[in-house]
Amino acid sequence: MRNKIVAGNWKMNKTMEEAVALTSEIVNMAKDEVTGDAQVILCPPALYLTTIQKYIADAPNFSVAAQNVSDKLSGAYTGEISAPMLQSIGVKYVLIGHSERRQYFNETDAILAEKVNVALAHDIAPIFCCGESLEQRQNEDYIGFVKNQLTAGLFHLSKEQILSVVIAYEPIWAIGTGLTASAEQAQEMHAALRSHVSEKYGQEVADQLSILYGGSVSASSAPELFAAPDIDGGLVGGASLKSRDFTEIIKAR
Ligand code: PGA
Repeated sequence: MRNKIVAGNWKMNKTMEEAVALTSEIVNMAKDEVTGDAQVILCPPALYLTTIQKYIADAPNFSVAAQNVSDKLSGAYTGEISAPMLQSIGVKYVLIGHSERRQYFNETDAILAEKVNVALAHDIAPIFCCGESLEQRQNEDYIGFVKNQLTAGLFHLSKEQILSVVIAYEPIWAIGTGLTASAEQAQEMHAALRSHVSEKYGQEVADQLSILYGGSVSASSAPELFAAPDIDGGLVGGASLKSRDFTEIIKAR
């Protein structure tokens, strides 16, 4: 019923040559596995998006995502990339609200909600990231904290709009640390987020939303995580930079 997605967030890594090599290797090794409701989304640095699109052209269930988009549409914003620009090169997904953007680039809930709006207005599906810090996890209401991130970033959307969104739960304490959340911890949060969506939009909508887990996903942790009923795939950082590891993760789905 839900799309099963494995996304690779390359962050600020790879030269053009390395990016092309990585893509070709992944496509060669994984293409035949990615059929039906399975999808692979590569998130290269924006500079490489059009090139990587060419290297996935023969892999129908592969697509690219931008790692970021401006909340502004055009004008004097040096260095920024807008939703109309991404739309003009055929990009269909964008990461919004990654904890690194929230933390290092001061992206507030209000900015993220606006980014969601401009993306959707240009037929680009947000992959909306949320997740708590270690300090927040030690707090009794860590689930409430993440639910509030969804409310702030997404709950102004209509039913039709939210159906285009992919949610990625990424506990900050698990990102790049090697400390994967256990399948139980991730499932607990995913189920809570789905029921939060269901309270606002109804069960039918909640049942259709793909919720990905991110945070030190590896070839060894992926099978158990992806087997959990509310985990619909992964948003993979470090392990997406190695073709073999990423292909193993794709196959685990
Ligand atoms: P990681 O990163 O897999 O290296 O922990 C995940 C992410 O930040 O999306």
